[in-house]
Formats: sequence, structure tokens, C-alpha cells
Amino acid sequence: MIPEKDLKIFKVNQMINDFNTQVGDDHLYTGLETPMKKDAFKLSDKEKKKRISVLFEEIMEVLGLDLTNDSLKGTPNRVAKMYVDEIFSGLNPANKPKITLFDNNYQYNQMLVEKNISFHSNCEHHFVPIFGKAHVAYISAGKVIGLSKLNRIVHYYASRPQVQERLTNQIAEELKHILGTEDVAVIIDAKHLCVSSRGIKDESSTTITSYYGGKFGAPEKIAELQNYLKD
Ligand SMILES: [Zn+2]
Repeated sequence: MIPEKDLKIFKVNQMINDFNTQVGDDHLYTGLETPMKKDAFKLSDKEKKKRISVLFEEIMEVLGLDLTNDSLKGTPNRVAKMYVDEIFSGLNPANKPKITLFDNNYQYNQMLVEKNISFHSNCEHHFVPIFGKAHVAYISAGKVIGLSKLNRIVHYYASRPQVQERLTNQIAEELKHILGTEDVAVIIDAKHLCVSSRGIKDESSTTITSYYGGKFGAPEKIAELQNYLKD
């Protein structure tokens, strides 16, 4: 007999997992793939930085900033470098972490949970930070993955303009693909600066999203996982 509370959590998660679900107020879910142009990699990283620098300089000029000022003159280059090499580096599949798997020699057949993976991303609607913690879990189907690789997968998908719902599902799909199993779970609890530093200016709210695949769809597995995630 499944407790009513767990059944409710299960139903809510099923709804979130529905790719077509519309979530949030102005943060509409936009599909699993990050929307990219076909010719996204026609320009080299070097060329991209050059163009972004010119364009960002124009934004600053339009805002009325004095680009001859010592403190400001390096900003367009800094922003361009930061966009391409750091905070949006996950747009380029060439930067995807290389994953090696190991045989599950330990015969460990319960869930493995990597919790409190801290990450930084950016909201694709406002280009301001999203940051928080991701918790990922899987049940081995014969292979195991190095623990730090779980962090790297989270960081790779976070290094894109994102919506939290898509980030959650992209991490889950990648884990399913790599580990050859449906039995993965991803929970993200994050703060959106577009909610706290502007607009509604709510300082305290966080957003939670989840993906429960395969065996993690069972209410008792959800309850077990949530128990591990309790502080
Ligand atoms: Zn936003």
C-alpha cells in the first residue's frame, strides 16, 4: 500500500517529466534540445570572441558608458572570452566531457546518489545567473561511472543559456545514454537571479525540478532517494 503523500509526489513528477508540460510563468519549456542554428559552429571560437567583443562594446556605448575609461575599456573582451570559453562553453559539443565507464565489479546493485553538486548556469530569457545544487542518482545496469564525471556532466549542460527544466532533462538523458539504463534520477534546486535581482525581486524562493526514470518512477524509490537527500 503506497502512502497517499508518496503517490502525490509521484504524480507531480510524472507531470514534470512530460516534455510538453508548460512550466513557470514566463519560463516556458522549450524542448529537450538547446535551440541552435544549423551553422552554429561556422565561426571559430576566436572569431566568435572577436564579434561578441565588438557587439558588447556597442551595447555599452548605447547605454552611454565611456569606453575610454580605464575600468571599462577591457570589458567587451572580458565578456566575450567569458561567454565563449567559460559560461557558454557547453554549447560546443567539442567541450563535452570524455566519459569512461568501469565494469560493476563490486556487484553493487542499489542506487548510487551523488548529492549537492554545486553548479552555475544562466537563464536564457534574461542572461543572468541560475545557481544551486544538483543531485543525481542511478542504478547500475552493469557499468559504473567515475563520480567526478557526474559533476562534469552537470557542469557541461549548465554552461549554456538554460531553463532549469531543460537542464534537468538534458542531464538525465545524457546519463541514460552513457550508462545504458533508464534508471536515473536528477533533482535540481536552484536560485534564479532573474527572480531575485529584478522583476518580482523575491530573495528567498528557489526552484525545484526533477526527473525520475525507470525504477526511480516507483514511489518507494522516490521516497528512498528523498530520504538520502535530507540534510
Ligand atoms: Zn529568467
